[in-house]
Amino acid sequence: MSHINDTITALATPPGQGALGIIRVSGSQTIPIVNDLFKGKDLTKVVTHTIHLGTIRNDENEIIDEVLVSIFKGPNSYTKEDVIEISSHGSQYILQKILSLLVSKGARLAKPGEFTQKAFLNGRFDLAQAEAVADLIASENASMQQTAMKQMRGGFSDEIKNLREQLVHFASMIELELDFAEEDVEFADRQGLIDLVNKIQTLIQSLISSFEYGNAIKNGIPTVIAGKPNAGKSTLLNALLNEEKAIVSDVAGTTRDFIEDSIYLDGIAFRFIDTAGIRETEDKVESIGVQRTLAKMKEASLVIYMIDLANDTTDNIREQIEGLKKSSVPSLIVGNKVDEAKPELKALLEDENAVFISAKGKDHLDDLKAQLQTFVTDTKSSSDVIVTNARHLQSLQQTDDALNRVIEGINMEMSNDLVAQDIRSALFHLGEITGEVTTDDLLENIFSKFCIGK
Ligand code: GDP
Repeated sequence: MSHINDTITALATPPGQGALGIIRVSGSQTIPIVNDLFKGKDLTKVVTHTIHLGTIRNDENEIIDEVLVSIFKGPNSYTKEDVIEISSHGSQYILQKILSLLVSKGARLAKPGEFTQKAFLNGRFDLAQAEAVADLIASENASMQQTAMKQMRGGFSDEIKNLREQLVHFASMIELELDFAEEDVEFADRQGLIDLVNKIQTLIQSLISSFEYGNAIKNGIPTVIAGKPNAGKSTLLNALLNEEKAIVSDVAGTTRDFIEDSIYLDGIAFRFIDTAGIRETEDKVESIGVQRTLAKMKEASLVIYMIDLANDTTDNIREQIEGLKKSSVPSLIVGNKVDEAKPELKALLEDENAVFISAKGKDHLDDLKAQLQTFVTDTKSSSDVIVTNARHLQSLQQTDDALNRVIEGINMEMSNDLVAQDIRSALFHLGEITGEVTTDDLLENIFSKFCIGK
């Protein structure tokens, strides 16, 4: 772990040539260090939140670059320490030169995420907010950006804080009883306590269930297009991706290229996985049972199951639908080749909430997309705070487990100190989310995933 008093520096813009490059410096020695290199104004005398034009010079007084220097005096800065951002021309040579001059004057090169880590350690924001900064930088679409922004601005933390407060209230009632154990007083009736825990658990569970949606926002929805050979899977994939990435032919088994691609609907990515396996080789056709298809589907969160309405048979379709119903993965049944559909086959799917399309004619693809979107809306939780981070999910689950033990303890009339212990455990796990409880390993793990300069 770094010393909080170190003065650190790093390139904040991406490596490579750009019009401008920005170097950040943070720490108690920021102003004297930069002032040593900067000619144009005495930075020790300027007011905070101002920008100054000048030059960076080496020890031989040679000009390295003309730069703009922005100064943010602590605690009114990102890290709450003195921060300077040097904006120079975007040459890697210049930037490296300035960095090495800063180091020669006493700054240390920052580790990934160290600016944000300082911000956290100095109380600028809590851990969940710090993690949201990384998510915000990594955001690739509107949903990711909005969720990260909400979390960074404290939406999620407020929810956790609120839960913690309720739990603390609960703990204090139990502990008050502990203090008066001899007198056998009951400050809270048992049912009241159980009701309170139930209420807290409802909130926790809504957060837990929001993860599925949060994860979909962050990582996309792994989707498999499945169905018998020649059902039209490659054709559909092509139509959806709107480009000829898969090879389509009348001979089953011609799609061998590995393809993984996504479509975005309303900011959510549907990641088509295992598209290489969309086709099976001809000689294997006999062996492709529904079971095998199901095994393939296990990695998916959603299966688009295609049925060939032109060539399949009633019995086969019944068998496929039955197989799908046994699967734990939600599926969307697509009746393909409506342009040549046998009416009796189409009738079979009418009750199955199926979408009827012609992949080849690109007909009714909008209906299919609408159904895909419904799938997302259905996983959207009622809570407007969304959990996107697996670490937070785990802590929430551990909190929930501890609360289950609390209820069990109360029901079994266990002694209050045992119940209090489980409450403390619940408080501990909630505290892990916002960073009220941390370990060096945890921090290291979180901040090492950041980019350098943030
Ligand atoms: P896959 O084995 O499931 O990937 O099936 P393909 O996408 O390779 O399609 C098999 C055959 O069905 C090809 O000849 C396609 O042109 C044809 N096909 C796909 N979709 C349709 C459709 O909507 N209508 C008709 N009539 N033929 C289709």
